[in-house]
Amino acid sequence: MAWDFSTEPEFQAQLDWMAGFVREEVEPLDLLFHDPGAPYDTGNQRARRITAPLKEKVKERGLWACHLGPELGGLGYGQVKLGLMNEILGRSAWAPSVFGCQAPDSGNAEILAHYGSEEQKRRYLKPLLAGDIVSCYSMTEPHAGADPKMFTTRAVRDGDDWVINGEKWFTSNARFASFLIVMAVTNPDVSPTQGMSMFLVPIETPGVRILRHVGLFGEAPGEGAHGYIRYQDARVPAECLLGTEGAAFAIAQTRLGGGRIHHAMRTVGQCQRAFDMMCERALSRETQGTRLSEKQSVQSDIADSWLELLQFRLLVLHTAWLIDRGAKQQARTQIAAVKVATPKILHDVVWRAMHLHGALGVSNEMPFGGMWLTAAIMSVVDGPSEVHRMTVAKRVLRDYKPSEGLFPSEHLPARREAARAKFAEILELEVGDL
Ligand SMILES: Cc1cc2nc3c(=O)[nH]c(=O)nc-3n(C[C@H](O)[C@H](O)[C@H](O)COP(=O)(O)OP(=O)(O)OC[C@H]3O[C@@H](n4cnc5c(N)ncnc54)[C@H](O)[C@@H]3O)c2cc1C
Repeated sequence: MAWDFSTEPEFQAQLDWMAGFVREEVEPLDLLFHDPGAPYDTGNQRARRITAPLKEKVKERGLWACHLGPELGGLGYGQVKLGLMNEILGRSAWAPSVFGCQAPDSGNAEILAHYGSEEQKRRYLKPLLAGDIVSCYSMTEPHAGADPKMFTTRAVRDGDDWVINGEKWFTSNARFASFLIVMAVTNPDVSPTQGMSMFLVPIETPGVRILRHVGLFGEAPGEGAHGYIRYQDARVPAECLLGTEGAAFAIAQTRLGGGRIHHAMRTVGQCQRAFDMMCERALSRETQGTRLSEKQSVQSDIADSWLELLQFRLLVLHTAWLIDRGAKQQARTQIAAVKVATPKILHDVVWRAMHLHGALGVSNEMPFGGMWLTAAIMSVVDGPSEVHRMTVAKRVLRDYKPSEGLFPSEHLPARREAARAKFAEILELEVGDL
């Protein structure tokens, strides 16, 4: 019997240590440095003085940058283990960077590891893995995000260089980054999936200009972490092309699968936090003669949240398990389904928990506002839910074919006729017997 939902004791001990460490040592950072971009600000010396010893403890415990394969010094943990770890990291905005696995650096490191030159690895990958620098993934453009085929940023070969022109938007952490991984059209005459390439662009390259630091709700104008960038005759040497010309889409895919599982499991961690607050509140608050926990509608909210969260967690872990087993095709459908389900569960559980806290819930004295915004963000980043829903449906439909005749294959008259024909001898005998 191969199904097994248990965790091996040695790994469970690591998870238990992580849970205590994140709660006691890392979560306080969220209260002191709460800017969404703060974990990426390598120039914040006070924060770094606090995080440096924490990172050392994580390294001593063998839990630093665990998403990396053994060739990069990682332990080669599969997605199930990484998922369980990310469930714990999801409780704190700072935890991923204290454990060396924050996005987009984790995915960018994978790209550099696969496609970077030795010099690029020495100059960028090594300090990135050590947590000394941060990086950007610069793909979305102001006029087009969900459909990458519409991107127009252009890279043209000129002698030993590539020259990049265009605008990118929502390039997260641009204000702190040392380099950008930029997607640009290199051949407009072929299909976009074959005509775009990926480039490593150092942030100090002449012609790279951050027009604005776009912020999220609640952030002061100009204070955000999402760069609106103009590339104007930005010239980089030929070796800055990552992989082969035209390989941007394939490269983009290599970084996504595991990343989506990690985001989903971090969402489970967030939801669990919101759910814990909801249960505590239900047991603590009285109105109209009874506790909230005794009202039927509150019980419905608690039961629905508990069960939906369990369903979601199992879907994500099952998907991680499929990835670990190399079941690529089924995993791809489920990864898209996980991407659709992630913002929904966060939205539903956070909304119920926030609502149960009344005015306090929507105040800045509880953490629901940030969680609520995260749900909205999760339904957009890395492609909106609608696009992933289409992917699920298209992939699921591959296993079906149209009915052959006028009526569906399950049409009862035809099936009844077939059943009669199958057992005709016996049926006739019985009729004769009567
Ligand atoms: C916090 C945050 C961080 C980000 N970080 C980065 C980053 O580091 N690098 C980067 O390159 N990008 C980043 N992005 C951008 C993100 O990837 C894009 O926002 C996303 O791909 C959607 O693109 P868009 O915003 O242009 O929306 P659009 O493409 O304009 O889509 C807007 C809406 O249209 C609808 N829609 C779109 N397509 C379809 C469809 N096929 N069917 C039905 N409805 C549809 C959906 O409702 C969708 O939400 C970030 C975004 C956010 C919010």
